Formats: sequence, structure tokens, C-alpha cells
Amino acid sequence: MVYDCILIGSGPVNLIEAMFLSKQGKKVLVLEQSEYIGGAWGKVPLKKGLPDFQLGCHIWDIEPKALNFLSEFLDMDLAKMKPQPEFVFRGIKLPYDWKNLLFYIRGMLRPKGEMESVSFNKARIIPAKYIYPAGGSLQFIDRLLDRTKDFGIEIRTGVKINKLEIGEFTKAISKRDVFHTKEIVITSVAQLKSISKNGEEFILPEPRLVNYIHCHLLINDLTAAKFSYARLPGNSLIHRVSDETDHVKTHGVGMKGKKLILAAVYPELYHKIGKEKTREHDYAELT
Ligand SMILES: Cc1cc2nc3c(=O)[nH]c(=O)nc-3n(C[C@H](O)[C@H](O)[C@H](O)COP(=O)(O)OP(=O)(O)OC[C@H]3O[C@@H](n4cnc5c(N)ncnc54)[C@H](O)[C@@H]3O)c2cc1C
Repeated sequence: MVYDCILIGSGPVNLIEAMFLSKQGKKVLVLEQSEYIGGAWGKVPLKKGLPDFQLGCHIWDIEPKALNFLSEFLDMDLAKMKPQPEFVFRGIKLPYDWKNLLFYIRGMLRPKGEMESVSFNKARIIPAKYIYPAGGSLQFIDRLLDRTKDFGIEIRTGVKINKLEIGEFTKAISKRDVFHTKEIVITSVAQLKSISKNGEEFILPEPRLVNYIHCHLLINDLTAAKFSYARLPGNSLIHRVSDETDHVKTHGVGMKGKKLILAAVYPELYHKIGKEKTREHDYAELT
């Protein structure tokens, strides 16, 4: 069987692209190497009774067209993050996108006639307002999946494509199968070994992966949130933290007087420094 288009990876970018292609009447297949749909926005199921674990995405910038798409096409309930996300450097709290102001000033100072850079186009003086799905990023993937079903899109999990052979009909090759397609879409973060065209093979470099340990902490404290999301550059142990209490509640999981906090921790240091030191080291920056 020859597909009109195969998309490698089931992140949101590919799922949305798959719907556009399917709307054009194309026969589309999405292939995902892991057992879970959604890529960096997906989930890892925990033990029974515990909420699914949100993988990566915890903060959304507002873009009016995207907002319309989310609320109208996906019928999503979006909430303004409270408090707004922060950037915490050595205990100093700044708006999350404070760097935009620097880009803006640099853009203003650029010599006349010089091409505008992407950063200048994106620059804003007023900090952006950040939102998040009231039910967490998993709600976003669930809704996307429902819509892909409406479009009759085929999705297969547990299929890692190692090699592509580009030709009149491209071959997407996994350990067990060969899929044939007229067009191919690959996510920018696809992990592929090689791509060949006209008999010439290009070996791709190993992807540069950043590893964190995601720690979910249940804390006996239901005072108002002190942070919704914070990045901690310069902190040797914690990369970012987010308060997930509200998203979990919306998913119908009662928190019984507890807060659910996620901390993304650098693994080498986590093992080296140990848990006691972790608490001492980082609590001060966030309170
Ligand atoms: C830890 C982390 C936190 C982030 N936080 C935010 C945030 O808060 N807000 C925000 O807007 N963005 C955030 N991002 C960025 C955002 O997640 C990405 O921009 C977005 O997910 C990109 O979508 P994608 O579809 O291109 O790729 P991904 O979502 O990365 O999906 C790629 C998929 O392709 C699959 N795949 C790769 N290679 C193969 C192969 N050979 N065969 C089969 N399948 C394959 C992977 O398993 C994965 O499921 C974060 C990213 C990370 C990693």
C-alpha cells in the first residue's frame, strides 16, 4: 500500500499537519516510536489512582490565531496562568520573557536598511500573557486525538523509523516494516539514522538530548500558588518548576489539602548532591 503522506512523530505539530493533509483528501499515516502520542506534550501513565504525568509542556504564549484555533476547533478551556511565569536568577525574579526587551532595544539600534532579524520581529516591550489549558497539556493532546479520529487519520505507535530512502515512492524503514509514501513529513527533532537519495546515503548525527529527572512532589500546603511556572537558569540543580495542582483538580483528581509541584532536575547533580541538599539549595529561590 502506498500512502499519500507519512508523518514521522506524533507531536502536536505533526498531528495538526496530518489533519490539513487529510482535509486535502490525502491518505495519511502517523508513525510514533514510543507507546504514547503527543511527543513533548504527551504523558507517562503513573500507577493506578495517580494522575498521568505531563511530560514537557507547561506554558503557552498567547497568539491570537492560535487562541481561535484552540478554543473553536479544539473547544479548549484556557486559563490565564496565575501568577504569571517567572524567570528566577540567583533569587531575582523577572518576567518570563524579559529577554524580549533586549531584542527590542537591539532591533531599534540596528543600522537602517539592515535586514530585520527574527528576534526583532518577535520582540515586545510589554511582557506576554501566558495561558495554559485548564485541564493541563494532556487535554490538548486528547482533543487533538479526537479530531484526528474525525478525519480518519491512521496512527501507529511503537514504530521507530530508522532509515528513509527518498524516491518516486519514499520508503520509511523500521526494524520490522517498510512503509511506502509519496510525501514524507519529519519533525525537526526526529531521531533517524540515515537518509538516502539516488543511492547516496547521508548518515545523520546522534541527536543532542537533554535529560532531566522529573520529580513530582506532593506538598501539605494549600495556600495560594507562589508560582505557576518558573525557570531557574544558573541554578545548578533545578532547571524549572511548575505548580500542577489546578490542572490535576480539573482532571477530577482531588488533592486533599495538598499541592502537586513538578521539578525538572539535572540528573548528574541530583545523584551527586542528594535529596537533603536539594531542599536547602532551592527552596529559598522560590519563596
Ligand atoms: C522538556 C520540554 C519542555 C517544553 N516546554 C514547553 C512549554 O512549556 N511551552 C511550549 O510552547 N513549548 C515547550 N516545549 C517545546 C515544544 O514541546 C516543542 O516545540 C513541540 O513539542 C514540538 O513539536 P513537534 O511535533 O515538532 O515535536 P515533539 O513534540 O518533540 O514530537 C516528536 C515526536 O517524534 C517522535 N519521533 C522522533 N523520531 C522518531 C522516529 N525516528 N520514528 C518515529 N517517531 C519518532 C518522538 O518520539 C516524539 O513523539 C518543550 C520541550 C521540551 C523538550
